[in-house]
Amino acid sequence: MQDQIIIFDTTLRDGEQAPGYSMNLEEKLKMAKRLEKLGVNVIEAGFAIASPGDFEAVKAIADNAGDLIIASLSRALEKDIDASYQATKNAKRPRIHTFLATSDLHLQYKLKMSKEEALERSIKMVKYARNLCPDVEFSLEDATRTDLDYMCRVVEEVIKAGAKTINLPDTVGYATPIDIETMFKTVLNKVPNVDKAILSAHCHNDLGLGLANSLAAIKAGARQVEGTICGIGERAGNTAIEELTMSIKTRNDIYPYTIDVNSKEIYKTARALSSITNIKPFPSKAIIGSNAFAHESGIHQHGIMANAKTYEIMTPESVGLVKTEFILGKHSGQHAFVKRMEDLGYPLVKEEANRLFKEFKALCDRKKTISNRDLLALVESSESWGENDWTLDKFVVNSGNMMTSTACVTLLHKGKKYEEVAVGSGPVYAAIRAVEKIVKHPFGLYDYSLNAVTEHRDAQGEVFVKITDGEEFYRGRGVSTDVIEASILSTLAAVNHMINSNGLALGSSINAQQMDLSDDMLVGHSDKKNEG
Ligand SMILES: [Zn+2]
Repeated sequence: MQDQIIIFDTTLRDGEQAPGYSMNLEEKLKMAKRLEKLGVNVIEAGFAIASPGDFEAVKAIADNAGDLIIASLSRALEKDIDASYQATKNAKRPRIHTFLATSDLHLQYKLKMSKEEALERSIKMVKYARNLCPDVEFSLEDATRTDLDYMCRVVEEVIKAGAKTINLPDTVGYATPIDIETMFKTVLNKVPNVDKAILSAHCHNDLGLGLANSLAAIKAGARQVEGTICGIGERAGNTAIEELTMSIKTRNDIYPYTIDVNSKEIYKTARALSSITNIKPFPSKAIIGSNAFAHESGIHQHGIMANAKTYEIMTPESVGLVKTEFILGKHSGQHAFVKRMEDLGYPLVKEEANRLFKEFKALCDRKKTISNRDLLALVESSESWGENDWTLDKFVVNSGNMMTSTACVTLLHKGKKYEEVAVGSGPVYAAIRAVEKIVKHPFGLYDYSLNAVTEHRDAQGEVFVKITDGEEFYRGRGVSTDVIEASILSTLAAVNHMINSNGLALGSSINAQQMDLSDDMLVGHSDKKNEG
């Protein structure tokens, strides 16, 4: 039996389905590139049949992928499999992933199918997929609540039909490590042709057992584990790939397997996800939470100084957290700046380096010390806009507790200046209304949050907005020591994305209600400690 564990990442499919995590095409591509750098073996890029946007995203990821496998999920239906094939066929290594539920509950109430019918359909669809693509994965949905004898029959038959990977998911997060061990061992012992396929685990975290179950599956013989970055996914999410990786690396005495994931890329990957979605991991989240390597207690600090191993089972450096001795400031040169950005996970090409260095110098004039968090906010909010994009020239706001707020905003577009005045219940609202009047592209504000980047009085405000034209959503980020300016910059970033996408945004459609911007949204979101 091979001792390599295949890491199957479903951040862009199972993870992306979770509320708040939906991404547009550009964001999915960016995330896919990060995952490739992290070293996962398979990326499940989406569910191609779900929408034209999903299809385009899977296709774009497949078209641009390197040597790793790109999979697309498909129900056991010809049209789904066709869509998955069309979307992934340009990948160097495409995979069609198809599934059918096998538990009595799902068969009886959801599929209204007999066991025999389900078995027949599974065989037929695996054969159909194999005619299109040599790499086919079959999942027995709700495997952990499936009758074991029936499971063994299905597994044997779909392997005969050509499935190369058999996934036994704990779809509802109900299993314990003991159940998982029994299930995998039974399949390995009873299915005669099981050596022709790789067994895979896909464990949900409803009882908080995702990682424990995945490790139990490996011990019992699974050689592929499915998971996501930060453990995002349906309901309570999936096994977190960073936790699985560090468990195997830290406890290699018990789990003597190899994995291709480069743990030093973990922090950057998690950071990319939270920067795209604006959802930060809980501070005490294992491996990637902001407290995961913080030692506050005096006894611990004393121990750590004497010997790091007293209280540290793995080093922050091993997951890619960088130690930095020098604070950057006014007198730092471009070389030091570029080097630091690279250490933080943002290698810059020349043009970008020049532009960002200018922005960095401008920031130095407004702020005495520049921390790593300031630099990350700078790079994550900075975009290079062309002359067809809207940029900020100047603004004035008038606001107080006894008056209606007014904002006068001047924007630049193709070298020309445009100015509008708008009123609102607060200065941010007034400024955003003025932007909307100028660009003549109506939009609703779907999400707005303001965070202080660092703790000091001269801290920058980082504003994140999500706007919608009613069909798609667009994100924007802006930082400034002035929160109104940060609000305008973030809105302009989102507006430029909206206009540039030209109705081709390809994100998931928005069903939720649009939010009205009110002044009370400016409080309660600030969480200074929840970073880095
Ligand atoms: Zn799942």
